[in-house]
Formats: sequence, structure tokens, C-alpha cells
Amino acid sequence: MQQIVPSYYTKFHCIGSACRHNCCIGSEIDIDPDTAAFYRTVSGELGRRLHTCIGHTGGVSHFMLSSDERCPFLNTDNLCDIILELGEDRLCNICADHPRFRNELPGRVEVGLGLCCEEAARLILGEREPTTLIGSTATDDAIITLRDEVIATLQNRSLTVPNRVDAILTQCGATLPPAYPDEWASLLLTLERLEPTWTTRLERLRDDFANTDLAAFDAYMAERQTEYEQLLVYLVYRHLANAADADGVAARAAFASLGYTLIHALGAVQWSEIGNFTFEDQVELARQFSAEIEYSDENLYILLDQLQ
Ligand code: SF4
Repeated sequence: MQQIVPSYYTKFHCIGSACRHNCCIGSEIDIDPDTAAFYRTVSGELGRRLHTCIGHTGGVSHFMLSSDERCPFLNTDNLCDIILELGEDRLCNICADHPRFRNELPGRVEVGLGLCCEEAARLILGEREPTTLIGSTATDDAIITLRDEVIATLQNRSLTVPNRVDAILTQCGATLPPAYPDEWASLLLTLERLEPTWTTRLERLRDDFANTDLAAFDAYMAERQTEYEQLLVYLVYRHLANAADADGVAARAAFASLGYTLIHALGAVQWSEIGNFTFEDQVELARQFSAEIEYSDENLYILLDQLQ
């Protein structure tokens, strides 16, 4: 099976204890059957902990989070005791894979790094050269071919980013409903949210967008347009080829466009309030959008339904 990865893929390294949004906090991870069976054979103190800290629901084993939502094996230095004592190759599949995603497509599997990991976001948005897809060869799959053409459009640096977005919507027969970012913020405030700071961001976007000088923000960001290009290429690479049909392609192109529109507008509002918007601010904004929207199946499908 052909495996495709983005050109930045092999540069990724988890920053472990330095991570501000450690993925071992807040998510109850399922353990694959082979790893769960191995954990049952571990002896000693770690074996005892594995026995007491793994729960079973509907035949599926999972790590039971502590009262402060931490994985029970994440120690006070924010390092994983399973890695420290048994080695990285004894992690369950989900822990070993995160933040990677895999899309199984006709004749190929497309792998990437999820934007909900802050270090992945740093890597993706910080790439200055256009992202290429390593291992990709010509295909007769119409949706993958269109997806690759859409990525080429997004990387046409003779156009402004908004013009590139308009062009891909046309390419995919999509339209973004004619709502301003503050109206999208009102919709997003009706969805499930994880972090209070996401709610605060959306409320500011809803309340302050009308007073935000977008042209001045764009002038401030003039040398940093590749951040938006990489964001859009990531969203298109990850989501567009999963579409089942032309309507799905249009909805997913509109979703990428919406992701850009929101992150651009949220950045503009933040810049307008504090007079500064650093690369790290952009990374955090993109990470939060991904965690709140992309990594919530419920929220993602509500938005795709709205965009269909
Ligand atoms: S979110 Fe990313 S950088 Fe942070 S601990 Fe998880 S994999 Fe590592």
C-alpha cells in the first residue's frame, strides 16, 4: 500500500514535559487488545498500577483519568511512566501514534500530523517552503486528483490568500454561506466547547469583530502569509479526500475556507486588542481551533452539515 506523508512529517518530535497542552491530559485513551493483553502480564509495582488504573467499558480497555483529568501514568514531571519503565515500543497504538492521523484511501494511506498538538502546529505553520506530499504518484481517483489541484492553487503565491481561497471554492463547486466571522462565532458558541479560553475568544470575535481593522491586521501580517497557506493546505490534505461525493468535496473545501476565515478573524481581534500577534499566538489559535472543532466529531459534522 502506497504511504503518503507531508514533507515536514519526519521533522516532528514530541516535546513531552515542555508541552503546555499535553495530550495525556483530558483524554481517556482506549488501549488496543494486544497491548492490553501485554499490560496484564507486567509484574511488580508498575504491573499493580496497570491493573488498577485500566478500566474496561463494553469490552474495550482504557486508561482511567485521575480526578484532575490526567493519565494515571503521566508523572509529576509530565513524563510517561510506561515509556520510562517499559520503553516507547510498549505504548498502546493510540499513544504511539498521536498526533499522527491516517486516512485510508483507494490504493494508499495518507498520514499526517494533527494540528491539535502544539508542536505539530508549530512545525506545520512554521514551514516557509510549500508543503509537498512525499510518496504521492498520479492516481485515477478523481477526488484525490482534485484535492492535489486544490493544494496547488493554495500554493500559488502570485495570488493573495483570500484570492486563493475563492479559487478553491470555485474549483470544488463550493460556497461559504454569506456570514461574517462574528456570526460564525455566535454559531460556534452553541456547540460543545472544551476550554474556557476558546469561549472567551469566540465571545470577543462576536462582540468586537465589527470594530476590528482587518486591513491594518493584514498589513501587520504581510510577511507571514505562509502561516495561512500551510493551515489551508493542512485542512485540505487532511479532510478533502475523505469526501464520499461531490457534495462532500464542496463541504470540505468550505470547511477549510471557514477554518482560515475564523483563524484569520480571531487573530485580527486579538491583535486589535493587544497590538501584537506573534507566531506562538498563531500556533495556539490553530491548536485550539483544531482541538475544539477538528477533533470533535460532533462539532465537525455539525459544521460540515451546515456547509453542505
Ligand atoms: S500534544 Fe504533541 S508535543 Fe504535546 S505531549 Fe502530545 S504529542 Fe507531545
